[in-house]
Amino acid sequence: MLFMPGSLLPDAIVPGWTEVAPGVFQRRYEPEDVSVGVIVGSTGITLVDTRNNPAEAEEIIRDVRDAFALPIVTVVNTHAHYDHTFGNQVFAEHGIPIYGHHLIPRHFAHHEGPRLREVQEQPECGPDRDWGEVRLTPPTVPVEAPLRIDPGGRTIELLPISAGHTDTDLAALVPDARAWFLGDVIEESGPPMFGSGSYPLDWPDALEGLLDRIRSGDVLVPGHGSVVDRDFVERQADRLRSVAEWIRDAFAAGRSLDDVRPERSLEEYWSESFLRSALEDGYAQLSSARNLPDDGA
Ligand SMILES: [Zn+2]
Repeated sequence: MLFMPGSLLPDAIVPGWTEVAPGVFQRRYEPEDVSVGVIVGSTGITLVDTRNNPAEAEEIIRDVRDAFALPIVTVVNTHAHYDHTFGNQVFAEHGIPIYGHHLIPRHFAHHEGPRLREVQEQPECGPDRDWGEVRLTPPTVPVEAPLRIDPGGRTIELLPISAGHTDTDLAALVPDARAWFLGDVIEESGPPMFGSGSYPLDWPDALEGLLDRIRSGDVLVPGHGSVVDRDFVERQADRLRSVAEWIRDAFAAGRSLDDVRPERSLEEYWSESFLRSALEDGYAQLSSARNLPDDGA
């Protein structure tokens, strides 16, 4: 069946899509178990994130067309990572505005771009990546400060998040439904991922900043996994704070990267390779902070 905006059918089922709040839907796609969001307005749909490549983006468009009686009028990227942005070009070709954090082009230049080039030039470097047709497409509407938009007649607040999972994280809040799309600053189906431009030392504070705005009872859609609540974010912030403390303590003790071992309590949640990525990113950050010229003092 087609979901009609304003439909009062209490148990309306939209095949393949989970209605997480009134007129707000999530679909979880493989590979990566990545969340794609649909926010239904009176005259159009806002789509959250675009998956790994143009073919996967075309699949989203077909799935939206099969389920909803409205056109996609706006796209939002929750952050720069490939599994959330590499379908962008399809929407740009249709002239649909793509909102995203203003630092995504810089992240692309440092991380996504070189990786894409490597895989396109030598496919054996990423045999599980189907990136042959991808053209790196940053958001067409860069978001630098909190922004309220009304695509398709429904209000959405876009809130840049301070550095954490990346320095391009952007929350999308549907205020009338108290539903949030948070990208990968929160993950449910696995632990939050470090590396590829992460800020493990700042991530806990980024979540604290978000928690100031999230109310109990709000619906939170993570970048990967099923919907969570405010308590989940608090627990994930606590775990991330333990990681940040472990990195700071090791650095303060003057231990070299090779000498640092993960704490057992962290290994219960993260694999050693994830923790090593966090450690490397954290050490790089602390070393560069130490090398900064002191500001005239
Ligand atoms: Zn990510």
